[in-house]
Amino acid sequence: MASPGQNPGRARRAAGLNMIELLVVLVIVVAVAAYLWPRYVGSRSKPSERYTGPISQARDVVCQGNLNQLRAGIQAATTSDPDGKPPSDLSELAMPADMLKCPTGGEAYRYDSASGRVQCPHPGHEGY
Ligand SMILES: [Zn+2]
Repeated sequence: MASPGQNPGRARRAAGLNMIELLVVLVIVVAVAAYLWPRYVGSRSKPSERYTGPISQARDVVCQGNLNQLRAGIQAATTSDPDGKPPSDLSELAMPADMLKCPTGGEAYRYDSASGRVQCPHPGHEGY
């Protein structure tokens, strides 16, 4: 039995958030995430199109840096090779595994051991 002057409903209310309040908070969090996602991750209308946000631009720069490092490593290995041949496989360069694939799409870099050329197969990265 409740003591005089206490409202049992009010005591129960103070214990925590009710379902409506939780749903309102959830809707606000989802709305903020939906607003911020295209600005920071980027947006695309078709799966084949590239993301264009700052994070995807940063990944593009990392891809260019990986390819520059790989090309420098291939050139160094070719120069130090007694026959002047490029390495037969990118794993001979002993680079970290993360540097052997595109950070945007995760595709492994294409390497031609005959010419020593390395390229990114990700759409839009062909010119890197
Ligand atoms: Zn790439």
